[in-house]
Amino acid sequence: MAASSLGIVRVPVLADNYAWLVHDPASGETVAIDPGEAQPLLDAAAERGWSIGQVWTTHWHPDHTGGNAAMKAAGARITGPAAEAAKIPTLDTMVGEGDTVRLGRHVASVLHVPGHTAGHVAFHFAEAGAIFTGDTLFAMGCGRLFEGDAAQMFANMRRYAALPDDTQVYCGHEYTQSNGRFARVAEPDNAAIAARMAEVDAMRARGEATIPTSIGLERATNPFLRADTADELARLRAEKDAFRG
Ligand code: ZN
Ligand code: FE
Repeated sequence: MAASSLGIVRVPVLADNYAWLVHDPASGETVAIDPGEAQPLLDAAAERGWSIGQVWTTHWHPDHTGGNAAMKAAGARITGPAAEAAKIPTLDTMVGEGDTVRLGRHVASVLHVPGHTAGHVAFHFAEAGAIFTGDTLFAMGCGRLFEGDAAQMFANMRRYAALPDDTQVYCGHEYTQSNGRFARVAEPDNAAIAARMAEVDAMRARGEATIPTSIGLERATNPFLRADTADELARLRAEKDAFRG
């Protein structure tokens, strides 16, 4: 099953979040991933004649769950991390590491990727070559460590780095340009980062989104994915938190 067998639509919500619609044409099923607000996703689905039967939630933060209640009221079943059930009152189905979720015949595996939040999960369609990483892996960056530590985020990055290079990465925010400014400073001799930033700056100047990215591109340009040790990731994360680029 190629990635083209899933219809994936990026829906900008709130200030800089991306929510996603994933549609399986064979079954007609559609899932909304991380709807920070409901209406833009309901509209995007309606425009295409799709109806949203499920919501998959990567973590409890309101910018990823704010639309859940309205989606549920509109008939969607809500799936998300069991470890964060107390903070996501809309959950119908609770999942964790090793579980699978389904959209028609497509199966996505659930990865527990803690650090940004304690129960954060990612959804990986291995056959289609697509992964939804929420606020863990970003283009040229990684999520802040609010409920975990650098060792956990480093382990997440190792897992992501082991995926095939052509895996498409769908993350939760348009942070690419600010991440890239830091990446350039973190790896001043990395020509791939410089080249990518020239492209990203041009895309942003045109008002274009820079997501999805790919594992291969991140392996070449993401200092956090490229870190060799948890200590190195910890140092990078601390420097990025203080970075005013
Ligand atoms: Zn978050
Ligand atoms: Fe977020």
